[in-house]
Amino acid sequence: MFCHCGKKAVIETRIGPLCKEHFVEFFESCVFDTFDNFELISNAKNIGVAVSGGKDSTVTLYLTQKYVENKNLNIEIEALCIDEGIKGYREYTINDLKRVCSDLKVPLRIVSFKQEFNYTLDESLKKINTKSCRLCGIFRRYLLNKYSKDYDVILTGHNLDDEAQSFLMNIFNANTDLIARQGPITGVISSSGFTTRAKPLFWCREKEVFVYSLIKGFNLRFVECPYASSSFREVARTFLNELELEDINVKYNLINYLLRILPDLKKAYANGEIKRCKICGEPSSQEICRACYYKKQLA
Ligand SMILES: [Zn+2]
Ligand SMILES: [Zn+2]
Repeated sequence: MFCHCGKKAVIETRIGPLCKEHFVEFFESCVFDTFDNFELISNAKNIGVAVSGGKDSTVTLYLTQKYVENKNLNIEIEALCIDEGIKGYREYTINDLKRVCSDLKVPLRIVSFKQEFNYTLDESLKKINTKSCRLCGIFRRYLLNKYSKDYDVILTGHNLDDEAQSFLMNIFNANTDLIARQGPITGVISSSGFTTRAKPLFWCREKEVFVYSLIKGFNLRFVECPYASSSFREVARTFLNELELEDINVKYNLINYLLRILPDLKKAYANGEIKRCKICGEPSSQEICRACYYKKQLA
């Protein structure tokens, strides 16, 4: 496999095999174009980047800073990490995160389940009988919503694979309302209670993010969450990767199709009134949001 320049290729992309230098160029312009074309951070004065210490959010943080510097934008960036308190996992990624943030000179803010709910995820699971990933997801979303309010935009590390998997899963579950929330900028309406969420890696394949993070030498540990279990998402991931072996464009095509139907979907779901949780005031489909419901059980 050789790059168009004649050098040995390090990866196959939708524009052909690329060497290290040409891949870095391709990858970065892909991310920068996403910032430009979808105006991810225009009008923002301060940005939060949701970080975990994994490759996706680290690359997002790095390239956001690079973009802001290249364009000479007057924007503050802060890294926001949610510490669930998962032994044998989070302490390692937080260590990596501290190193990355100090290298990049980006302030790191850590909010934890422990300080917010009085219990770590590990401790909560001993008191509440529910699936670990479900409880974790509910509490994470709650904290992300709550602390997002301090920023004009919050950027997340979701990549093309994540987006394509979510789209497939939402189709198979007939979750049209959730599809309406997809896209490079999340949410159907901008209203108080929701900080805009945007995905700079929207057009980047997971494999490309991985190779880019290796080339850049971020030196991240690849620890897996001990609660990770095989899920519907895993099936969707494998399925899409198998299709991609046949045609490298499948994920792009799927997401291009999503973008074609998205404006109509967003319009269709824009009129619903937002209900709020009676206890915390966060947006919720029920009277009391799931986070407050579980918080009560912990009390
Ligand atoms: Zn080349
Ligand atoms: Zn609530």
